[in-house]
Amino acid sequence: MSADSAPTTALLGFGDFGTHLVDLLAARFPGAARTVAPSDVDEVFGAGARSRTSCLVVALWRPAPAFCERVDGLAHAAGVPWLLVSDEHPALLIGPYVAPGAGPCFRCYSDRRVQHDTHREDTRAVYDAYDKDPEFGPSGHLPSHVRITAAIAHGIVSRPAGHVGRVTGVDKRNLALSRHPVVSRHGCHRCGAPPPPRDRLASLLGVRDLESTRV
Ligand SMILES: [Zn+2]
Repeated sequence: MSADSAPTTALLGFGDFGTHLVDLLAARFPGAARTVAPSDVDEVFGAGARSRTSCLVVALWRPAPAFCERVDGLAHAAGVPWLLVSDEHPALLIGPYVAPGAGPCFRCYSDRRVQHDTHREDTRAVYDAYDKDPEFGPSGHLPSHVRITAAIAHGIVSRPAGHVGRVTGVDKRNLALSRHPVVSRHGCHRCGAPPPPRDRLASLLGVRDLESTRV
């Protein structure tokens, strides 16, 4: 790629689902996308990343939390947005679209999911197993699911406004669509959500008055 080339969308797929999806996306971005390998992630976000890469799409056949955490750190350091796409039975998840400096990060997304997961211990055990063994996970996918997911991902990457920090879900059992916002954690050092205004909260609660009267 020459130095004055326009930045392109980088596509990275894992597993049969991810590589199939990346192939479909590459066809939807003729001349404006390039496929990269996991070992190329450092190069994607290396020096001059913004001039080479407009966005990275990471398409996963199943969750890969440690890899996504690494991608998110590199993306924020380089200031390059990225989109997570994952087959996470029974849902296809497209998002969040992480735009460094403009919305919540992957770490906040992960923490919010744990917060709302009533089976968080089981989920953690499965995720740990995924991180330890790149080959471990469910096999097989329907081509129609990949086509649906690729169409949604293409729409988000083409027009990201309105999609920052949001996750679109497709229920594989009935193809029902859902859309959820990610709320940044207060005080997150990566996506910059400010800590709660403690002085204002104390004032609203009348804490100083309560302490002074020893109630
Ligand atoms: Zn964050």
